[in-house]
Amino acid sequence: MCPLCRAQRRLAFRNERAFYKRKCDRCDKDVVSMYSPSKRYRVWCYDCWFKDDWDPLVYGRNYDSTRSFLEQFEELWNEVPKIGLMHMRSVNSEYVNISADNKDCYMIVESSNNEGCTHCYWIQECKDCVDVSFASKTELSYESDDCYDSYKLYYSKGCHDCRDSFFLFDCKDCSDCIGCVNLRSKKYHIFNRPYSKEEYERFLADAKLDTHEGVEAMRKKFEAFAETQPKKYAEIYNSVGCNGGYIKNAKNCNYCFHCYESEDSKYGVHVWRNAKDCMDVDTAGRNAELVYNSMNSGIDISHYICSSLCWTCSFMEYSYYCFNSNHCFGSVGLRKKDYCILNKQYSKEDFEKLRETIVADMKKREEYGEFFPASVSTFGYNETAAQDQFPLKKEEALKQGFKWEDTTRGTYGKETVKWEDFPAEIDPTKTVFACIDCSKNYRVIPSEFAFYKKLHIPVPRLCPDCRYARRIGNRGPNHLWKRACSCGGSSSKDGKYKNTVAHVHSDKPCPNEFSANVPPEKNKMLYCEACYNAEVG
Ligand SMILES: [Zn+2]
Ligand SMILES: [Zn+2]
Ligand SMILES: [Zn+2]
Ligand SMILES: [Zn+2]
Repeated sequence: MCPLCRAQRRLAFRNERAFYKRKCDRCDKDVVSMYSPSKRYRVWCYDCWFKDDWDPLVYGRNYDSTRSFLEQFEELWNEVPKIGLMHMRSVNSEYVNISADNKDCYMIVESSNNEGCTHCYWIQECKDCVDVSFASKTELSYESDDCYDSYKLYYSKGCHDCRDSFFLFDCKDCSDCIGCVNLRSKKYHIFNRPYSKEEYERFLADAKLDTHEGVEAMRKKFEAFAETQPKKYAEIYNSVGCNGGYIKNAKNCNYCFHCYESEDSKYGVHVWRNAKDCMDVDTAGRNAELVYNSMNSGIDISHYICSSLCWTCSFMEYSYYCFNSNHCFGSVGLRKKDYCILNKQYSKEDFEKLRETIVADMKKREEYGEFFPASVSTFGYNETAAQDQFPLKKEEALKQGFKWEDTTRGTYGKETVKWEDFPAEIDPTKTVFACIDCSKNYRVIPSEFAFYKKLHIPVPRLCPDCRYARRIGNRGPNHLWKRACSCGGSSSKDGKYKNTVAHVHSDKPCPNEFSANVPPEKNKMLYCEACYNAEVG
């Protein structure tokens, strides 16, 4: 399989955000779960699953050399109880997934060490944020993506160290700015022009950014202005020998997206915090080493092949949901176990012999090195991250061997207010809204409403799913295309932007090419590193 198909297969196992109410199959409590009530698996709540009073080895079985190993794994996999939502050490944050160490958070995914955050994706050490993705050390911010070390930053993307600003793109060390692109260390700027404090404040008051209409009008103006400004071909900073996007402090990371403090890796998404020698990975971090074709691998792991959600483990192959275990093959749900195959305990010598036999058998069947077959996934394609990156219609997904989930999430037509009548004297936390895009009903939880009120942000008219889709869509896909520099000499090739300084290629068009995650049909003004640096610095 090619790298993109390998990624698609893995992601079809990754349900990040599709949650349902269902009963824990052990304690009977109503819980929130990644598994719709129609799923036939045994699903246990977090407390039941992580209790020490059950032994996953009871599901152990012998290997049968006459049959496909992956088929036998699937039979084991279907038996072992599943974890409803995957999180650890959460305080007052039961609606979070693939996350750890969060307090007072709601609907956040892939996030650690946050407090008071709602509807966020991949945030670390953030406080009081709503609708924020890919952020760290950011506070009181709203609807932003890829912003770091910022405070009161709204509707922004690709910014560092910014505060009290709206609609910024690729700005650093700015405060009190509106609608700016590529600025460094500026204050009181509107659409990249300087103003006095008084003029700025008057503009801000007139913009009425506390109303839906004001925000949408400014969004339109900003998008039109941003189109006239060059963008760096890819967000790659302080890195050598890297290509992909959203890369920082990395070395030799190839075709990687969202990658930092990592080296010698390829085809990775979320490769971070001292990951080394990782290939075909979706999330490999916190000292992950020698990982291949795997997902959610992290916290001091190494020698990890075709596995998922095994934390603090080494020498793992074809295993799922194992913790603090080593030398396991085709095992599920183990904790502190070594030398197991299909959840059966072996001596070191017997393990090594049997492992060799199985690998040889798998190679004969051309299975070894491939991720689990699509039939093993417990999720419908439409519930997984695969749908974000490789969207398919139901028929296409089924034809390609993926599953599909038909349970509708959420309700439609149950809204208690029409947007035409809003704002009225109503309490949003007691109101059911309908999304102006997909019509799905949604609510605003009290802490979220308190956030909007405190920061004078209008209650969003899109549902959380549509808001998420818009932010993620703006990041571009995790694919690369060959593109040419848009610098035409003294201006951009489309003439929309006049260069401010002379470039090394003088007034001839820049000959540089690069890889960018922007498909050729998207007419974006992309500048190569040299031309971008000449203009922006
Ligand atoms: Zn339970
Ligand atoms: Zn919607
Ligand atoms: Zn150029
Ligand atoms: Zn140029």
